[in-house]
Amino acid sequence: MASLPVYRWRLAPDGYATVRQLRALGLRPGGQDVAAQLERPRRRRGPLVAHLYRIDLAKPVRPMTPARWAALAKANAARRRCPECARDAGYVIPPSRRMCGLCIAAKEQRAA
Ligand SMILES: [Zn+2]
Repeated sequence: MASLPVYRWRLAPDGYATVRQLRALGLRPGGQDVAAQLERPRRRRGPLVAHLYRIDLAKPVRPMTPARWAALAKANAARRRCPECARDAGYVIPPSRRMCGLCIAAKEQRAA
């Protein structure tokens, strides 16, 4: 992982895309390894990192069946649940945070 090429945000080379960008193209990484990463510096926090995949190695998204939609909905519901307070945050909790916005705010208040 340490040897991955790192590009500045918005300076990704042609032929590379993030998972989100692949999805917009109807593609998925398809088992390929991360080819490069983008980093966006942030104040007071580590840089925001996005993984890049090669578009030429991407595969078409498999058609979604009702069972797959159901599995996806269940997985998303679990990812929206805050591990700290067990509320449904209404959005996917970033794995790096592991808590919802309310919990982060409460924690910052305690720290202040
Ligand atoms: Zn919470």
